[in-house]
Amino acid sequence: MAEGTKGKIIWISGPVVKAELPGAKMYELVFVGELGLFGEVVRIQGEIAFVQVYEDTTGIKPGEPVRGSGEPLCAWLGPGILGTVYDGVQRPLKLIYESTGNPFIARGIGYDKAPPLDFKKKWHFVPKIKQGDEVQPGDILGTVQETQLIEHRIMYPPLPENRPGKVKYIAPEGDYTIDDVIAEIETKEGTIKVKMWHKWPVRRPRPFVEKLPPVEPFLTNIRILDTLFPIAKGGTACIPGPFGTGKTVTIQSLMKYSTARICFPVLCGERGNEAADALHSLLKLTDPDSGRPLMERTAIIVNTSNMPVAAREASIYMGITISEYYRDMGYDVLLLADSTSRWAEAMREVALRIGEMPSEEGYPAYLPTRIAEFYERAGRCVLIGKEGRVGSVTIAASVSPPGGDFTEPVTSNTIRFVSCFWPLSARIAAQRHYPAFDWLQAFSKYIDTVQEWWHKNIGSDWRQLRDQMMELLVKEAELMEIVRILGTEALSEYERHILNTAYMIREGFLKQDAFHPIDCRSPPLKTYWLMKILIEVYWRRGLEAVKRGVPAQAIRELELSRRLPRLRMEVTEKEIDKLKEFYNQLSSEIDRLVEQYAKK
Ligand code: ADP
Repeated sequence: MAEGTKGKIIWISGPVVKAELPGAKMYELVFVGELGLFGEVVRIQGEIAFVQVYEDTTGIKPGEPVRGSGEPLCAWLGPGILGTVYDGVQRPLKLIYESTGNPFIARGIGYDKAPPLDFKKKWHFVPKIKQGDEVQPGDILGTVQETQLIEHRIMYPPLPENRPGKVKYIAPEGDYTIDDVIAEIETKEGTIKVKMWHKWPVRRPRPFVEKLPPVEPFLTNIRILDTLFPIAKGGTACIPGPFGTGKTVTIQSLMKYSTARICFPVLCGERGNEAADALHSLLKLTDPDSGRPLMERTAIIVNTSNMPVAAREASIYMGITISEYYRDMGYDVLLLADSTSRWAEAMREVALRIGEMPSEEGYPAYLPTRIAEFYERAGRCVLIGKEGRVGSVTIAASVSPPGGDFTEPVTSNTIRFVSCFWPLSARIAAQRHYPAFDWLQAFSKYIDTVQEWWHKNIGSDWRQLRDQMMELLVKEAELMEIVRILGTEALSEYERHILNTAYMIREGFLKQDAFHPIDCRSPPLKTYWLMKILIEVYWRRGLEAVKRGVPAQAIRELELSRRLPRLRMEVTEKEIDKLKEFYNQLSSEIDRLVEQYAKK
């Protein structure tokens, strides 16, 4: 570690400390007080550094020493990240549990006592290049099976000092620690020794060649999202969720059933026990395909309850940096941040204490910039390195608008920068309709960009079916207003058929039980065929029948119509033929009704 400056504390206010620290650099990682608490320089005035401290400052006093590390806060990147629970500055929690007997971190435990990566463990390294090969930063030098589920690709890190060069030495297949040199690259500026780990400053996005357009859907396998409000790989979504509306369930579904190969949840809870509860349930999840613990393809970043608000700042940046690192290996990564409101509140608290001019509702004027910069780090990218690998980071972040007010600064600024808005509604959850996304308020900017994929891979009428479904739901809301004022008698048969179809859509399609063995995951083809039954048969055939004198109620009372809402739970993704059969049967039943009414 580079030698940093030394100084002393002159003033303390909650999580902020002023120190005489000549030579300090902006965003330098510093150690505060006799305990050596973790902090980051966030403002400099002459020789005075303002430090946001990531640990509880109780008991520290002016005059105590402050030591600079000479470098910014970094993520430590290498095999061993997956399966770990970290705090906001990447100290592994389990490790600390073992050494202190306390599930939460004792203050001032440094990286020497709690290193983010295990330096003793040996990994089985398999080289992918040979001596004499030309390599450039980003190239894969070899692999390590990090967990049973994930292969870790060891890259020539994209550090500024790493130049293209020729491989002078590559370690033969065998067991190595992350600190062993596994390659030596001869460059014009000298020989670079490469180990299986490196550090990367959390506030600096990792490099890539170019961002690709958002044309590939990021499949959540949650029907309402994939069809009505789809997200693309590398896209961004914001989930406002009042308490009890299913935010935790949604996050867990995304972790288990979405296309993401690797997930990183960042938990910034309101209360420590909230984060701890969420943590415990995440630790118990299993990967549905392999039956292995889900932790084999995730790592969790959590703010422990004894960490002050400032730590939330660090955890968000830590999460996105680790996500980018796995993206660089060519994976599709999902970053789940819960909740970004707590992160913004931390920003506000620190800004106020260091004397920044408050802007809207006390938030600093740079709030929108920070939010934009964070979401800007999502993307599906062509990666650096000869191979031209592609990887993505998709971000889904929750916000907690006080009183459900979407115009408050954090929510409104988030809406400006994300491309999907998936609000969970207390009203819908109260009706026990899950997932409780409010389809009348939600939006996605990717419908046009992902439709090509659906048309090519699933069905060429996807867009048309999707738009029709949305239109019926909007019409339902309008009609319900009329019903509220005038009662159902005022409705025509056509309007009744709209309401009945919307009911079928809500019950048989939008609702999805995250705990049901079959319904929990709805892959594209199943989703598509359910949509076809609802729109092509129930709605369109039904409409023709209504036009020929069949009462809307007669269609709804068909035996098959009664079964329709349960199809999602009865038919697995491997039984698409059953859905096709149902499609034909319901069509014939409706035709029979037409004949029957024609005779009357
Ligand atoms: P939050 O995290 O928003 O406070 P939870 O995610 O814990 O809320 O959800 C509250 C309850 O709602 C859950 O315990 C569950 O019973 C129900 N729920 C939410 N989403 C679903 C879903 N998709 N399927 C089934 N039940 C759900």
